[in-house]
Amino acid sequence: MTAPSDYVLEASAVVAGYGNKTILQRLDLHILPGEIYALLGANGAGKTTTLSLFLGFLAPQTGRVRVQGVDPITQAAEARRNIAYIPENVALYEHLSARENVAYLLDLADQNVSQDTIDQALAAAGLAQDAFDRRVGGFSKGMRQKVAIALALARKVPALLLDEPTSGLDPQATTEFNRLLGVLREQGVAILMVTHDLLSAADVADRIGFLDAGRLVEEVAATGVDRFDVRALHRRYAGYEL
Ligand code: ATP
Repeated sequence: MTAPSDYVLEASAVVAGYGNKTILQRLDLHILPGEIYALLGANGAGKTTTLSLFLGFLAPQTGRVRVQGVDPITQAAEARRNIAYIPENVALYEHLSARENVAYLLDLADQNVSQDTIDQALAAAGLAQDAFDRRVGGFSKGMRQKVAIALALARKVPALLLDEPTSGLDPQATTEFNRLLGVLREQGVAILMVTHDLLSAADVADRIGFLDAGRLVEEVAATGVDRFDVRALHRRYAGYEL
């Protein structure tokens, strides 16, 4: 039996929206340590709104949101310490190197981490050694994501949120990125990934949820050797056979 306190990311019966416009209609989403959850849905379904809840940018009208047991609205600073967020386009200090970015961003987060730990995190994130001291201004999207993942690794956060991480990545970079998520999963990080990339979700996720007009209409799980049936997923998601 999974107890509510076991979840790193928890949204229970959440109703949320903007002004008097309700977007999420009793959302239930629960993610365990070491689990990768891919949230799919059409444009405007409420995926980014869901991320905003966990990030404390948006308060639920009713229901409960927790990050590692902490309310992201009333205990914002503590919730933020437990979470890393990688937006579609990672914002970095363009004139600083990869090493300097991670060191500076750790400093801003009040985390004292040795240069060795930073280097290990950059290496674990798959950044080539010769890029450590290069200015990130010339980095590709994939390289920028690696810097952001290295930061999450160095911070040892229990929760990682990703918005459209594979959009604009070529197939090789996507595969490499998914391998990286696997590394984080092994370290027990709970990962929530918002995506339109069904293939990538089927490749890496443990569970896939379909959001339709603010309702989680279906959830499918991969079990052991039984990975997802991509054709069936596509039929449900896009409404026609591949
Ligand atoms: P996409 O795939 O296009 O990113 P999404 O599933 O992430 O879509 P959301 O960005 O969560 O969808 O938006 C859900 C609904 O909420 C949309 O109708 C959108 O117009 C509306 N919305 C989003 N942000 C705001 C805001 N700040 N104020 C008012 N309405 C908003």
